[in-house]
Amino acid sequence: MTESIKLIAGNWKMNGVGESLEEAAALRVSLDAEAANCRVALCPPATLIERMSATVGGSAIEVGGQDCHAAASGAFTGSVSAEMLADAGANLVILGHSERRTGFGETNADVAAKVEAALAAGLEPIICVGETLEQREAGEAVAVVSEQVMQSLPQSLSCNAFAVAYEPVWAIGTGLTPTLEQIEEVHVAVRAAIVARLGAGGEKAPILYGGSVKPSNAKEILNVKEVGGALVGGASLKAEDFLGIIRAV
Ligand code: PEP
Repeated sequence: MTESIKLIAGNWKMNGVGESLEEAAALRVSLDAEAANCRVALCPPATLIERMSATVGGSAIEVGGQDCHAAASGAFTGSVSAEMLADAGANLVILGHSERRTGFGETNADVAAKVEAALAAGLEPIICVGETLEQREAGEAVAVVSEQVMQSLPQSLSCNAFAVAYEPVWAIGTGLTPTLEQIEEVHVAVRAAIVARLGAGGEKAPILYGGSVKPSNAKEILNVKEVGGALVGGASLKAEDFLGIIRAV
C-alpha cells in the first residue's frame, strides 16, 4: 500500500475541564516551534471542543469528538450529533471505541450508522476495532477484528477520508501491549479487510494502533508495517507525554 502521513490522535475520554486546555496550549506552542512529522489531533470531551478549537485554531492541531449520535437531530436527550461536533470546530470523530461498544452496547451496525452520520456532517471518522483478552487467548483476534472492520465500515467510506484504529481491549489503559509481531499480524489483516470491503478506496486509510502507547514504546510500534499512527488515551492528557509520542514519528 502507499504510505500516507501518520496520524497521532489523543483521546481525552471523560477527562478535562477548562483549565486542562493549558495542556493543549502548551502542545500548540511546541508544535508551532517544531513542525510535527505527522498529523496531530486532540479529542476532548464534547464540552471542550469549542474552547479547544479556539485554543489550537490556526495551528497544525486538529480537533475531534469521541462519539456522535447516528441521527442528525431530534429527541435524543443527552446526545450530540455529528453536525454539532463540526459546528463546535471538530473535523474528526472517534467512533466505536471499545468503551462505547462494551459500556453502551454499541454494535457494528450502530457504528456503521454513526460513520454515515459523521460523513454527512463532513467529519473524518476514526473507527475503532479490537479483540478482548478472551478472544485473543482463543486465537480469534484476527477473525474478530476482520469481522468488525467488514461490519463497521459502510461502503460510502470508499470515497472519503477515514482512519481505522486497532485497539486490543486488553491493552487499553492497562500498560500491556501486544508484541510487535502481534500488532503487525492484525494490522495486515485489517488492511486486507478494509480493501476487501472498500476496494481501492481502502488502500490508503491510516490504520492507527491504540492501547498503552507512551513515549517509551511509540517508536517501535510506529515502525511496524501498516501502523499508520496511534490513538492515545492516558498519555495524551499531558502535553509533554503526547509530544514524546509525536516526536517518535
Ligand atoms: C484509548 O482510549 O483509545 C487508549 C488507547 O487508551 P490508553 O492509551 O490509555 O491505553
